Amino acid sequence: MNEFELISEITKGVPRKSRELVRGIGDDCAIFSGNSGNNWLVTTDALIEGVHFKREWTDLKTLGRKSLAVNLSDIAAMGGTPKFYLVSVGLPPGNLENTAKSLFAGMNEVASEHGVTLIGGDTVASPLGIMITITVIGSSPSGKELMRSGAKSGDEIYVTGSFGASALGLCFLKEKILNAKTEPFIKRHNDPVPRVAEGQWAAQSGFATSMIDVSDGLVADLSHIADESGTGFEIESEKIPRDAGFDAAAATLKMDPLQLALSGGEDYELIFTVAKDRAAEFGKIIGGCPNGTRIAKIGNMAGDLKLRRVFGKLGNEIKLDTNGYDHFK
Ligand code: ADP
Ligand code: MG
Repeated sequence: MNEFELISEITKGVPRKSRELVRGIGDDCAIFSGNSGNNWLVTTDALIEGVHFKREWTDLKTLGRKSLAVNLSDIAAMGGTPKFYLVSVGLPPGNLENTAKSLFAGMNEVASEHGVTLIGGDTVASPLGIMITITVIGSSPSGKELMRSGAKSGDEIYVTGSFGASALGLCFLKEKILNAKTEPFIKRHNDPVPRVAEGQWAAQSGFATSMIDVSDGLVADLSHIADESGTGFEIESEKIPRDAGFDAAAATLKMDPLQLALSGGEDYELIFTVAKDRAAEFGKIIGGCPNGTRIAKIGNMAGDLKLRRVFGKLGNEIKLDTNGYDHFK
């Protein structure tokens, strides 16, 4: 049983409908109705020592930054504004105070960068390692949230930023290759930047039909849009933006840069779709994405649910090594 089959199995038969609930399980955040024309967005993500991080790969303050950043990314994925967060920390014995203070110093930094307020949490012992579980609450003008389910056949597929860098950084950490050339990739892995302003821009532009953030891998997360929207997709691997120096850096580890960009996880970029007949109009505002973030078109959604293809430079179909990260594989 994989991660998603397990989620579907355990949530079967559980009451999941409520008058105020706009969207329950199955998207980056749950949505429920608020007042004054706003909806609330809620998301939670856990980071477990030995699964999501190793202490020799990062410092605790940076780990605190990442813990909040990956949660903010799920609010970004719906175009919301993050407002509040709760933190539950499990702390192993020894050095309790320093561990907790360092983690919180990192979270505080990211919280003030994004104007979010800590409103609660829990602090417990965790004999086998650090555990950080964060819940973020955000808001969005009602009906402006971008869900995974809104894509239609023919919609154009766009992405923010670049792909594969975080996965490559993780490979360098595993190989203990730490130098000036590998440092930018390691930073992408350890200290990701959530695309909050970019997500709001995409949602408020009125052009986007669906959106997701990339935590599992580009193809895996695009597949979540396709699953929820009942569509397929066709993308061109050469159009997937990669950082300068990325291909050469991947080559030093004899890794295929295209595979890394397609299936590497934890980029925390956004994928969104735009209706084909509005794409020309959208093209005119693409340069205005906040933070100067580059937006690239990588393909189209397809009508047939089973049609999910990645094409190479010569029009050849690329087979993928993996479909993204699965906790239980
Ligand atoms: P993301 O990668 O955006 O954090 P996930 O793939 O972790 O999303 O989760 C997919 C969906 O399943 C989400 O809506 C999430 O809230 C839901 N989900 C995951 N685990 C559980 C669980 N144990 N109980 C209820 N819902 C869950
Ligand atoms: Mg997500």
